[in-house]
Order: sequence, then structure tokens, then C-alpha cells
Amino acid sequence: MPPIQPSTLDADVLRGHSATIVERSTWPRDRLLAFQSQRLKATLRHAATSSQYYRDSIGDLVSRNAPLEEFPVLTKRLLMQNFDLIVTDARLSRKLVEDHLGGDDPGSPLLGEYRVAATGGTTGEKGLAVFDGPAWLDAIGNTLRFQKIVGIDETTGSIAIFASSHVHISHRIGAELRAFRPAAPKLNVLMPIEDIVETLNKHQPEVISTYPSFVRELAKEAVAGRLRIRPRLVRTSAETLTTDIREIATAAWGATVANSYTCTEAGAMGHECLIASGLHLAEDAFVFEVVDGGNRRVPNGVAGAKLLVTTLTNRALPLVRYEISDIVTLATEPCSCGLPFWRIASIDGRREEVLQFVGRRGETIEVHAHRLRSPLTGAKGVRQYQFRQLSDGLEITISVFAEFDRESVASEVGIAVRSALETVGAKPERVAVRMVDDIGRSGSGAKEKLVIRDSEPREHLPPGT
Ligand SMILES: [Zn+2]
Repeated sequence: MPPIQPSTLDADVLRGHSATIVERSTWPRDRLLAFQSQRLKATLRHAATSSQYYRDSIGDLVSRNAPLEEFPVLTKRLLMQNFDLIVTDARLSRKLVEDHLGGDDPGSPLLGEYRVAATGGTTGEKGLAVFDGPAWLDAIGNTLRFQKIVGIDETTGSIAIFASSHVHISHRIGAELRAFRPAAPKLNVLMPIEDIVETLNKHQPEVISTYPSFVRELAKEAVAGRLRIRPRLVRTSAETLTTDIREIATAAWGATVANSYTCTEAGAMGHECLIASGLHLAEDAFVFEVVDGGNRRVPNGVAGAKLLVTTLTNRALPLVRYEISDIVTLATEPCSCGLPFWRIASIDGRREEVLQFVGRRGETIEVHAHRLRSPLTGAKGVRQYQFRQLSDGLEITISVFAEFDRESVASEVGIAVRSALETVGAKPERVAVRMVDDIGRSGSGAKEKLVIRDSEPREHLPPGT
């Protein structure tokens, strides 16, 4: 792991700015939406006048004041292909950003002002982000606001356990926030679990932030009596949060789980309040559209095919209707906490995690891999699992706890998954169960990967093996 770099922001400037952002939490929703719409107009005008890409693609739409729904969508691929034309500072280029990220000090401001980040992404396609000074200050201030919503301030004993590479947005945000918590221990999910347990026991954090999959690991340590902590709150991010993780955290510590939602190219977008019934969205900094496959908005309460995000603060790299392949459903009711920010009721994973099967009548049936999680978490003895789409069905890779019989676990998993598929009308020819000792975390973000595609290597070995 690279060392965590010092904050590039002045703590007092950040405190002052975040107070402005926090104040918006008290606005009535009407005021928030008026603010958003005014910022959107300014953003689109800026993009159409300062970026060659947008001048060509949205210039006409902006000049005739067309609604956002008519604007073209920006995919990650288009962003990367047209990067040099999209950025509004002629000195910036994809090459310059890549060189900076690959250099000795990627956390330092590029050209003295821009913060940059990259993602390998769960979609397997790389993304780059450039934040100008005010946008970066806003992104960090926004994160502080989200923390305040769940009762975290500078005095809260809070420990983060991730493993992002130092070019990831989460690492960059974490580094900035260290300005307020310089003495917090530096943990990551790739360290030996004994060391993590020891540090947590020693520090007794009130709040732990980590991947949902790692909550499960920690809970196991708690159940075994080795981890003796009492956090009131577990913040999760980066992977899809499933209901079983909330139950696990409640059972282990009586802790609330508050999920968060961050995207490299945009920054921190959403966070749950302590009622924990969906992610409140930072609608003062972004416009969110949950849309179908044809980029038309779907009603609240209906799952979209993707989420489109328009960023309202970043002038260096304007993102208009930027496509994120998450399957998102918006809430139908305001949250009882009183925040003016609307909520995402659920994120059912990513488009890339959708598996396809042949149905009884030869039709194609799509099943999100999350629907297959419960037969696996329900099967006794399963420690880890991962899916791979086969042309004639599905392969499930599992690892099993040592005290269980591998053969019977494998057979139980096969039967449970087959029956789950049958209930949704899928009739795969083959459901194969593969046994491994360990499914390693993948990529520089060390996230748990639910579905691997055919083009990817069969399993990711943990680093150092
Ligand atoms: Zn709420």
C-alpha cells in the first residue's frame, strides 16, 4: 500500500466551505431544486462555450434552452476518447493526466490547481477525473456534510479500512480528511486480519468505514470473540450493499449500517442518514436521472437501466448526462429525517452483473447476480462466492469454511442456485460449482467482485501469493 499522503487543503478553509454546504441540508426542497436548476443552466452554458466537445454536441440545445432529457449521453468510452476536447483548460490532456497519475506524487495538484483521480472500474474500463480547485473543495465539503448527517465530526473516533490505490478518488478524499484526524490508524483490507483486529480492539472506534464484504469478515471475528469492539455505526461504500450485511452488523454490534455512493469521475454523490433507508443525493452538486435503456426517465419506485449524472461544480471537466451502469431505483416518498435531498431506495448492482440464461421457451432471461446471493448466503459453509457466465449456463466458484464438507456444500449450492433460477423461468443447461481455497480481492481497489466475465482470468489470487 502506498503511504497516505498529506492533505492538500487548509483545514480552516475546508471548515468554512463545508459550513456553507452543510447549511443547505436545512433548506426546503423547493429552494434546493431552484438552486440546482440555476446551477444546471450555468453549467450547460459553460460547457457549450468552453469545451470544444460540448460546443459541437450540445451548443444548439443550450442556445434554444432545451430540457436536459434531450441532451446526448456521455459514456465512459466517449469521455476517454474525447478527453482532450472535453476539458476546458487547453493545457490539460489525457496524456498529461495519465503521466501525473503515474508519477511520483499523483496527489499533488496538477498544474498547481487540478486534483486528478483514476479508476479501473467495475466495468473493466478505465476512467479519469480532473477536479478544479473549487470543485475539489466542494467534493470534500460534501463528504464532510454526509459525515455530519450521520453524526460524525472531528472528535468522532472513526477508522476506515479500504485498500484503494493512491490514485483512487476514495483514497484522495480520505487523504484530505486526514487533516482532521492525523492520528487515526492506517488500516487496509489486505493486511493480516489479526493485525486489523488488534488495532480495532486497541482504538475502540465509534465508526468503521469499509467494504460491505469486509463487514462480514469483521463480524466473523466478533462472533469468534477475537474482535471486541462496539461501533455504533458502520459506513459502507464501493460494493453493492445487501440486506444481509445490515443484519450481520446489527447482530454483531447492534450497529446501524449507513451506505454511501461515490463515483470516481464525479465524487461523493450520496449517503444514507441514520434512518438508513436509502441514499440521500447531493442534489445541490449534481443532477441525477434514473433512466431506461433509451435514456428516458423512469418513475420513482421503478428500477432504471442506468443512472445519468450531470456535475454542477466542476468547470474543468464538465460531465453532462454521464452514464453510470448501476441499476438504481429512486424512493417514492421523502425520508422522515427531513433532509431536502431525495433518496435512492436501492442499487441492485451493476449492469455488468446481469447474467443471461435461456428460458423455458428459448427466450433470453436476465437475472441479476444479486438475486442469486441469498441461496449462497443461505447455504451452510459457504465462505466466498463468485459467478461466471458460461455460454450454456453458469459457473459458481466458492470457497468453504474448513469445518464443512466441501462436497456436500457444493452439491447444496448447485441445487439452491438451480432452483432460484427456475423460479424466475431460467433453465440453464449447466450449473457448475467450482471449489477453490480462496477467492482473492480484485484490482487495485481490492473490491470483492461478484461476477467475472469470460475475458477475465479465472480467479484473482491475493497479492503476495
Ligand atoms: Zn433520511
